[in-house]
Amino acid sequence: MKISNRMDLIPFSGIRKIFEEVTRREGAGEKIIHLEIGRPDFDTPAHIKEAAKKALDEGKVHYSSNYGIPELRQAIAEKLKQENDLSFDPAEIIVNCGTTESISMTMMALLSPGDEVLVPDPCWVTYFYAARMAGAIPISVPQREENNFNPRIEDYRSRITPRTRMIIINTPNNPTGAVCQVSVLEELAKLAREKDLFVLSDEIYERIIYDGERHKSIGSFPGMKKRTITVNGFSKIYSMTGWRIGYAAADKELISAMIRIHQYTTSCATTFAQWGGVTALRGPQGEAERMVREFDRRRNLVYEALKEMPGIHVIKPKGAFYIFPNIKNFGKTSEEMAQYLLEEAQIAVVPGTTLGECSSDFIRISYANSYENLKMAMEKMRAALEKLIHR
Ligand code: PMP
Repeated sequence: MKISNRMDLIPFSGIRKIFEEVTRREGAGEKIIHLEIGRPDFDTPAHIKEAAKKALDEGKVHYSSNYGIPELRQAIAEKLKQENDLSFDPAEIIVNCGTTESISMTMMALLSPGDEVLVPDPCWVTYFYAARMAGAIPISVPQREENNFNPRIEDYRSRITPRTRMIIINTPNNPTGAVCQVSVLEELAKLAREKDLFVLSDEIYERIIYDGERHKSIGSFPGMKKRTITVNGFSKIYSMTGWRIGYAAADKELISAMIRIHQYTTSCATTFAQWGGVTALRGPQGEAERMVREFDRRRNLVYEALKEMPGIHVIKPKGAFYIFPNIKNFGKTSEEMAQYLLEEAQIAVVPGTTLGECSSDFIRISYANSYENLKMAMEKMRAALEKLIHR
């Protein structure tokens, strides 16, 4: 059978491929430490689970509005106002099945075949392939190690063509942990206004941020509301990855296109999960804050350990729960290094090449794993790398 030509440009996710292989090896009895997957290891806070259970018991089991339940859209509008300085009417918010859906929904609705999208490289690969699904062309914009992985405005400007339609921003960034400086965001906003571009701002890690850094939403700059699509969700900060809820906020005109894609792909987010989302936003935040403090403790552990490892160069991340060390000194490709660490140290990491064409000298380590596991993983990694050096 002939499948769509579109699929020639859409590979199976590199991160998921590693996850599947590791799961298979574990099934065969191997013990592997997971540093490859971007999934908080905590349980969802109990009060949020209770809210979803209550919704189920009350029979909230039917389709909701395609836009989401009004209570959740209202809570999101208030959150965006208070925390992000973004003014949205609840009618300008779509609740959906996660930020992943927000990204593909946005690109399908707003891009035409052949349009170019400026994508930070490295990045969470969904941006590349969601653009491809929409027939658009992702253009890598290097996030340079020598600049602490902070975007440089000249790297964006030099890649603008008459076909450029959208800029992707992800701050804090997966996989580098960089937090975009306000002055750089201002420049990017200026560029978007000048060239009449959309900005898709993925803010899923906004509250997983350290060292007193502050998150800023690019949509809050003057003149940005009509062109910015702010996407966020519950997966990371409330450890709700399996609930599959998130949201997109944008100007009414954009929402009216995006809702039609959402209607014909998922209809609506799971109704009782949305009730959990209301409690997540309106309820106590102590558990979320505790998770961030624990991520910070792990970040320090992993950073200090990597910094001392021979041959490794590493920048301390400012947000999210990933670290992106440079492994170029070992003379191995990032795939070879990931394979070596899996065989020699029984730790699973993501090769940089799966996260962008500019990232072959790096591996991604997720520290969304227990302190004890991370400590063990770092000891094993050190021993494995020392073997390479003394070989
Ligand atoms: N955005 C980024 C930058 C991510 O790293 C991830 C998950 N790895 C997501 C979005 C996915 O979010 P969701 O679970 O809401 O689809």
